[in-house]
Amino acid sequence: MLIGVRWCTKCDIPLLTDTCEICGSQYPKPFAKDLVPVFAEEMTILRDLLGASELPGKSSNLYLWNSRTNYYYKGRKVASIKYQNDKSPIVGMTKDKILRELSETITDLKSFKKKLYNANKSYLDRIENEAIQFIRDTVLEVKHNIALAAVQTL
Ligand SMILES: [Zn+2]
Repeated sequence: MLIGVRWCTKCDIPLLTDTCEICGSQYPKPFAKDLVPVFAEEMTILRDLLGASELPGKSSNLYLWNSRTNYYYKGRKVASIKYQNDKSPIVGMTKDKILRELSETITDLKSFKKKLYNANKSYLDRIENEAIQFIRDTVLEVKHNIALAAVQTL
């Protein structure tokens, strides 16, 4: 079971457990319960429509990460969605210095996915095996009435 997300500052990658399997660094305290990648289109909306003018002028995939109403950069909370009196959303920046001083982007999604897998290999392999075993057990249990579903991740 996922008990929170950490960030390996050496490898610059989200961790699903307390240990990075690339460099061995340990991070006992999670910074978020879950994490969703922010793609360039959402980053543009945050900057151009919701007031996050401190974000870099060029949007890129995986620059920010989202957990509920909060946005993170390299594992640090940098912004939150807030609601104004008329209930319209606006982005409140918390650490704009971090966003201004760092401008690197992740452009190679394929190598990022490989790095993400390698940093979290044991956890991801374990939950994949649990899912496969669940499907096998279900097929054996319900031989004549099987519903099929496919799931794909990032
Ligand atoms: Zn690492």
